[in-house]
Amino acid sequence: MQISDIDSNLKLLVRAKEIEDLYAQSFPAVLIGFIIASFVVTILWSVQQHTILITWFSAILCATIARILLFVRYKQVKPLENTHLQWEKPYLISHTISILIWGLGAVWIMPKDSLLYQTMIVFFLMGIAGGSLSVYAPHRIVTLMAVFGSLLPITLWFLFYGNSLITSSIATSCLIFFISAVRVSNKNAQTRYENIALTHQLQLSTQQAEKLARTDELTGLYNRRAFYETAEVLFKTNRRIDQNVALILMDIDHFKRINDTFGHIMGDAVLTQIGEMLQQTTRTSDTCARIGGEEFAIIFLSPSLDDAITLAEKIRLVIANTPILVNHQTLSITASLGVTIGEKSIKDTLRSADEAMYQAKGAGRNRVISMLASEKIKD
Ligand code: GH3
Ligand code: MG
Ligand code: MG
Repeated sequence: MQISDIDSNLKLLVRAKEIEDLYAQSFPAVLIGFIIASFVVTILWSVQQHTILITWFSAILCATIARILLFVRYKQVKPLENTHLQWEKPYLISHTISILIWGLGAVWIMPKDSLLYQTMIVFFLMGIAGGSLSVYAPHRIVTLMAVFGSLLPITLWFLFYGNSLITSSIATSCLIFFISAVRVSNKNAQTRYENIALTHQLQLSTQQAEKLARTDELTGLYNRRAFYETAEVLFKTNRRIDQNVALILMDIDHFKRINDTFGHIMGDAVLTQIGEMLQQTTRTSDTCARIGGEEFAIIFLSPSLDDAITLAEKIRLVIANTPILVNHQTLSITASLGVTIGEKSIKDTLRSADEAMYQAKGAGRNRVISMLASEKIKD
């Protein structure tokens, strides 16, 4: 994967998280906005035409209901991580409508001849804009829309139509507030991006470390630890689905000679090639592991001992018939395999398969010997 892909993936992840957090934390703002609108109407009731106030309040009520319905739908759907982006557009639309009702509506309902009431309206809008910095913090565009949408219309009105030092001072304070809001939301967005990127990186590193801890470095197969973990899972599963756990233990024949003749590094190369053969010969559902130096195990669920023997025989033939190239020489490698099925625990299974494998060695190597639990030599 290219760096630019990782970067664009991360950007999508950050956007999805922004939208998820936005829905998670901004619902109270919808209700609080409605309560503040009730206060504003109550305060202006004696000084403004009732039709204006009722029209504005009805618009606020409709926007609030629409936003509540959006939140309810979101909760019902419970979107998955990769579908969060679809929920951005409806949020932005309902948010924009709502904030314009506030920003433009406030100028409309404001008594044009009373500085006291005008100051009071600015006070409410400042509260809304200030609160937006934290409530909508997960999403920079939504935050800035809330700040500018609510406060900019009245600021402009004060600048162009205000006729006192007080209105000019209030408008100037609002302009200074806009600059701080932009800086705060930019800084906040950057910090969030870095946090999410770091958390994501940490998750990837943890997954990588977990994978490495379960992988045999030389062959890429499972290691001994992962083999035991998988075996435990298989023993639990087989009780439920009425299948047998089969185990093939395989030991390379006369491997010491290869090391002695060609050196340890070439011996390693042979082991790697044996690992590849195992992976190619088995199914992805079979667990192949290197559990010792030149000892391999394949554990899987199998309906019968015959099926397990068939797989073991197939592996033996592939290894015996595939020439291995070492130092420009081709080598013929063979392996001895022990097969067992139907034991009750991993300990017994390993013991039976090991016993069968040593019988294969004793019988001349390059062969498969199977052993059922009932045939086991008692110790
Ligand atoms: P047998 O047919 O009886 O199994 O004979 P063998 O020579 O394969 O068995 P033995 O147990 O005598 O020797 C195993 C050798 O495997 C000895 C050891 O040096 C070598 N070996 C173990 N682990 C590794 C490894 O990771 N890399 C390499 N190159 N060799 C290894
Ligand atoms: Mg061995
Ligand atoms: Mg050996």
